[in-house]
Amino acid sequence: MNKDIDALIELRNVCVDFRVRSSLFSPVVLRALDHVSLAVHRGRTLGVVGESGSGKSTAAKVLIGLLAPSSGQIFFAGEEVRNFDARTRKRIGRVVSVVFQDPATALNARMLVRDALIDPLQVHGIGDEQSRIRRVSDLISMVGLPKSVLDAIPAQLSGGQRQRVAIARALALEPQVIVADEPTSALDVSVRAQILNLLQDLKRELDLGMVFISHDIQTVRHISDDIAVMHRGKIVEFGPGAQVLGSPSQDYTRTLLAAAPSLLHAGPTDTPSSPSS
Ligand code: ADP
Ligand code: MG
Repeated sequence: MNKDIDALIELRNVCVDFRVRSSLFSPVVLRALDHVSLAVHRGRTLGVVGESGSGKSTAAKVLIGLLAPSSGQIFFAGEEVRNFDARTRKRIGRVVSVVFQDPATALNARMLVRDALIDPLQVHGIGDEQSRIRRVSDLISMVGLPKSVLDAIPAQLSGGQRQRVAIARALALEPQVIVADEPTSALDVSVRAQILNLLQDLKRELDLGMVFISHDIQTVRHISDDIAVMHRGKIVEFGPGAQVLGSPSQDYTRTLLAAAPSLLHAGPTDTPSSPSS
């Protein structure tokens, strides 16, 4: 396989093995990622869909440099990363940011939103105090929140607002890629579409590469340019969204589609009916 020179992040034949112990004397290796190859490109959203336990979050952790592959290669901005020391992680942190399902994991409960947004700028030594304050106020507008939110702590915000703050924090270092792992799964149905639209707008405006991970094929379909279907640690199907969902080549993809009944009656390029924001 040739190197994808345009890729912001590329995984090539990546395996991740976890040692799990089924009984005291028989350690068992669980292969959470099985020869996964994928590439993230500027201005495109790669949807990753699969049932719980299929390896999606493990893939996310590898993509953000949090977890080293057991074998295979990973490239950030064209450079292969082999050892994940603190310096390398910091460099990777400038390329890619993550948004998790639960914004509470990204936000310190006792920290003002303002401080949560300034923190990454300070850690990376970006700008002076004045430019940081400007940046924080830009970030909060970018995610559609009023400036007053800067003086709140997470507990004073709604779930949707908290996720917006987590997204603002993820954007603080001007990453080229956002990895969003089930970013709407913990939210009320009524705000899911708003967060999806926000991510889509930001991707467009900032020309980001995005990886959007969900167990829900409807959600993935709404936002993705390309879709990778995962099953037991493998990518079993990959292609443009319309193709993967319109004429799936794999039984597993058909099973996923069958579990999302409304999809059977709608074309793959339709937008799902969602509550107006
Ligand atoms: P998904 O996000 O698709 O639900 P995960 O990537 O979280 O799936 O998990 C994939 C598989 O790897 C599951 O079987 C899970 O139990 C296992 N797994 C994930 N993380 C660990 C870990 N740190 N130690 C052992 N097994 C793990
Ligand atoms: Mg997961």
